[in-house]
Parts: sequence; C-alpha cells; structure tokens
Amino acid sequence: MIIDLPPELKILQEPWRFDYDKELLECKDRLLERFLRIGGNIWGIDGHYQVLLWHSGGGGTFEGTKVDRKTCEQICEIAKKELLCTNGIFDVKLNKKELSKHEAKLKIMSEKNAAVDGHKVKLEAFLSQYTVSLEIKNESVPPEAYRLALETYKLLPEHHFGHSHFKELKLGGWGNGAAKFSAYENPVVHIFDCAIKGVRRNYLGLLLHETGHSFCEYLREQVPNMYTKAKTNFEIITKTKETGKSVFEVISNREQQGNSFPVVDYLHGKDSRRDRLLSSLSEFIAELYLIYVSNGEELRQFVTNTTGEEGLAWKKTYLMFKTSFRGKEYR
Ligand SMILES: [Zn+2]
Repeated sequence: MIIDLPPELKILQEPWRFDYDKELLECKDRLLERFLRIGGNIWGIDGHYQVLLWHSGGGGTFEGTKVDRKTCEQICEIAKKELLCTNGIFDVKLNKKELSKHEAKLKIMSEKNAAVDGHKVKLEAFLSQYTVSLEIKNESVPPEAYRLALETYKLLPEHHFGHSHFKELKLGGWGNGAAKFSAYENPVVHIFDCAIKGVRRNYLGLLLHETGHSFCEYLREQVPNMYTKAKTNFEIITKTKETGKSVFEVISNREQQGNSFPVVDYLHGKDSRRDRLLSSLSEFIAELYLIYVSNGEELRQFVTNTTGEEGLAWKKTYLMFKTSFRGKEYR
C-alpha cells in the first residue's frame, strides 16, 4: 500500500533552494540562508538593525550581524513564508518612521485564537487513543505546529505510538545541554523552541527523526531479531569506514554516477544529515525513518540501483522498514 503524502510533507522531497534573491544572499554572506536554517531574530533600535543568529556549542550564544533596513525588510518577508510562526520576528514593515526605542520592541502577534485550541485538541485526542500524552512547555506553540504534527502522525502505523518507548510528545522548551532543536529521551519525543518557531522543514524533519528514535528503541526491545539484523546491515553499509575509504567518498562517487542517496535537506544541510545517519545504528534508524516516510520514492530507487553486498544490505533494511510499517510505503 503506497500512501501519497500531503503537500506539507512533500516539501521534504525538494531541495532547499536559497535563491529567493541571489543578490541578497551573495552580498550578505548567505545571512538569509543561515537565518532560515537555524532560526534567528532581528533586533532594531534607533534605526540600527542587527540579525541575531544562534551559535551552538557550550552554553550557546547569539552572534549579531549589522544590516541595513532594506536587507532587514527582505529577510523578514522571506522568513515569513517559511517559518511556522512569525512571533518574535521583527516586522520592519510596520514601522514607517525611523525606529525609536519604543517602536523597536518585538512585534508579538497573538496567535492564541480558536485555531490554536482546535488543532491542539485534535492532536491531543489523536495521541491519547494510543496513550501518548501531549505536554506543552511553551505558551505560544503556533497552531501550525499542532496541525503539522497531526498530519504527519496520521500517516504512521498505529503500533508506532504508545509502546513503552513513546509515551509523550513534548513541544517547546529551551533544550537540554547542546540539543537546542530536538531530542529523544526515552519515552519522550521533544521538539524545542528553536524548531517550533523555526521553519516548517526543520520541524517536520526533526519530528520524524526523533519519533524514529522511539521506533529504534521499540525494535531493540520488542522485535530483537529484527534489530539484530538491522545492526548487521548497518555494519555492511558503513564497513567502508574500516577499509580506509570514507563512506562519504563512496557516496560522492555514487552521486556522480547518478545514484544519490536521498538525504533530506533540513537544519544544517544534507552533509550534516548524512554524517548523522552514518554515525551510529540509532541515528541510522532514526534518520532513515524520516527518509522512509518523506522520501520513499527516491529511497526505493536508490535501493534498487545499489548493487553488490551493500545493495543487498540496503534491500534488507528497506524490507525491515516496510515490514515494521505493516506494508505501508510512501510517495
Ligand atoms: Zn538523532
């Protein structure tokens, strides 16, 4: 059974192009790309503007880049199209006059309306059928975040919810340690503020990735023979590491031959997702869970076109997913 994805999820099949305004990107050192990838804020005071971008590592910090008003307006306009909500993004267009200290405060749009509660209630009702609770750590979770979570979760098999390793979905919060976007802490899937207020693509990608971690734990405990086989296949797929050739090099060569592995472009980009996927068995299963759902067609093509021992390992891995999804496949 092949399921058609709703348009909201299909964005994960497309490359993330930052060509809204080539000139803007080139001039501003790809500031906009970074703004969209990792989220940011614009701070304006007395007619001076700074784009604040999160710098991870250690306790984390914000890095400010001075911009002119025009650039600031352009970034705001483009960001609004991709962000889940515009709360906290400075809306320069509202300020016709030069900014004073008073005018410079962030425009907080109240999205607390009937729509919020409607989507939240629906998501809560959906999850509660499977004994998964919904916890909210931020008052201003946008309605879109609830709606997208429901649209995504409705696609998954029922038995992926409510097992002992997925008991709670927690939306909002500052994050734990270095993790500022999302985390999986058995049995809780966390999506933190940075992802909830950021772009749709990151939110959807991380939601499926972290849910994929809960699926990995489910396999490990409840379907151990399948988990052991997944481990063997993962080792075959990544064994080039030991033979001296980097996996990345092998993948690049293959890409040149037109058989690209369908990594989803989100957060810090394809290379970082690929590195993450190959870093451990649990990351492999979690990221592949996202790819299986969001990029099924390309994954099937890749699996079919990959030959030899590795091709066989991919075929077995794909079959493991298909079996665990009770035959559900996606396009
Ligand atoms: Zn992970």
